[in-house]
Amino acid sequence: MLRHSLLVLFLAGMLWLPASVVGQQSGDGGVTIHVVQRGETLFQIALQYGLTTEELAALNGIVDQSNIWVGQTLLVPAISGPVMPPEQTHIVQPGESLQSIAGLYGVDAMTLATENGVTAENPLVVGQRLRIPRLAPEVVAAPPAEPPVALPPEPADVVLHTVLDGDTLFKIATQYGLTVADLVQANAIEDPTLIYVGQQLLIPGVQPPRIAAELPAPATRLTVNPLVLVEGQTGHFKLWTTRPVTLTGTFLDRPLSAGYDAAEGAYSMFVGVPVFTEPGVYPLTLNMTDEGGATHTITAHIQVVGGSYGSEYITLLEDRTNLLDPNVESAEENLIRSIASAFTTTRYFDGPMGLPAAAAMTSRFGTRRSYNGGGFDRFHSGADFAGAPGSPVIAPAPGVVVLADALNVRGNAIMIDHGWGVFSGYWHQTELYVKPGEMVTTGQVIGTIGSTGRVTGAHLHWEVWVNGVPVDPMQWVRQSFT
Ligand SMILES: [Zn+2]
Repeated sequence: MLRHSLLVLFLAGMLWLPASVVGQQSGDGGVTIHVVQRGETLFQIALQYGLTTEELAALNGIVDQSNIWVGQTLLVPAISGPVMPPEQTHIVQPGESLQSIAGLYGVDAMTLATENGVTAENPLVVGQRLRIPRLAPEVVAAPPAEPPVALPPEPADVVLHTVLDGDTLFKIATQYGLTVADLVQANAIEDPTLIYVGQQLLIPGVQPPRIAAELPAPATRLTVNPLVLVEGQTGHFKLWTTRPVTLTGTFLDRPLSAGYDAAEGAYSMFVGVPVFTEPGVYPLTLNMTDEGGATHTITAHIQVVGGSYGSEYITLLEDRTNLLDPNVESAEENLIRSIASAFTTTRYFDGPMGLPAAAAMTSRFGTRRSYNGGGFDRFHSGADFAGAPGSPVIAPAPGVVVLADALNVRGNAIMIDHGWGVFSGYWHQTELYVKPGEMVTTGQVIGTIGSTGRVTGAHLHWEVWVNGVPVDPMQWVRQSFT
């Protein structure tokens, strides 16, 4: 108790230092952190930074303005000399150019490029956060020569932040001038320490970005979801047009096929980013041919980041090591790949997928693997569920069975075509209850968990393939792609 009191005295003493010493730290996100001093009120602090009490309270999620405490940290917009408005930023959307964005804010395109280091070698990248240069008061902005086509944001638009490797809730909150509590509340996050790379967080109270996309008619809007793609995950390109077109595309050197939603007037292309894809910027090319035969090309630069998957050693029993034989492996691999590379124009899935078994997930997708002491040149291409032998395997989404067969490595296997280039696979089963060509519905029992094929014990190995590439199936459980 005595030690505790001394600590309090010591801390209280520290806080008597001038505010400039302990009170302020400049954050790098254009904010200052103010540590509340003894005797300060929210009104006094707000006044000090040229804010109103309401603004400061809103910025920090304070409901009761009389209830602040010594040592509490408050986020305030960074100031230098006279009070400046918070720096304006713009998140680059697909189809936008430097000129169209400059026109949107009435700034010079060259200045915008210089301020943000955009050059021919470093082109604009979708999802990039551009600093919009402030206009000096005496300079009157010349109206842009050609007013850009500024599409009004769709009512459903919200600002989403894609969680990157190294992001924390605090870091993201600070970036948008919010508190961790704001993000937790807006996203119904149960455990603030558990966020994952590729997760989409809703940013409350932030205006959706104004978009200055210059798309050739009849295209009106293009979205990339998420704006920054992650190795081993699924990406969704969606193009709205005023009339039907023929659409093809290329991304990561793979051709893309489009599914059409007539009710929405939109084309969807799903892409699987292969595991081991080098982080970097990759071009997306879309070729759109309208009914008159005119062809337009739309390009965008898309960023791919690493997926931060772990690694593990696997030891196979001696009587099964023959299954590591490259000939056995590649024949089966080719079969699965060719099935999963097909494209069905009907979309059977609608909303997120369910889970394929009522069992604990014991191994996640993407883990780098070394078999019997070999190199980490393989990865876990699915998610494992440790169900009891004989327990049911469940279809997580509607689709058509395209494979139900006994394979060497994968054992008794089923594959389901969910349409629009999305497939799922279920390996190592004991019994198979469905046949190729059969339509299955969500929740239907399609087989039972077993230990057939190359396994170290009974489990269900579940895969999702998108556009011929195995991807993290759990992303399809967490997220709706329609
Ligand atoms: Zn597995």
